[in-house]
Amino acid sequence: MATQTEKISIREEEIPLKTIKAIKFSILSPDVIRSMSVMEITTSETYDEAGRPMVGGLMDRRLGVVEPGARCETCGNPPISALGISVG
Ligand SMILES: [Zn+2]
Repeated sequence: MATQTEKISIREEEIPLKTIKAIKFSILSPDVIRSMSVMEITTSETYDEAGRPMVGGLMDRRLGVVEPGARCETCGNPPISALGISVG
């Protein structure tokens, strides 16, 4: 059975406006950032000669994965295909 996608046309004037009263930003301290880390980057290399992510590099699988079928070694989640990052 074929699926049918219905296009909905909305004019900008029909979108209800919301007023944002405030936005608050803050910066994490170096100690908090370090406490959130899962590993130390120890090499500038990304992939080895066989095309595998270098342990300690920016593509280390503990930081999340981009390869289809791979799992993040920190949380075990697969990549989000559109973003190339792991959930969690
Ligand atoms: Zn993860």
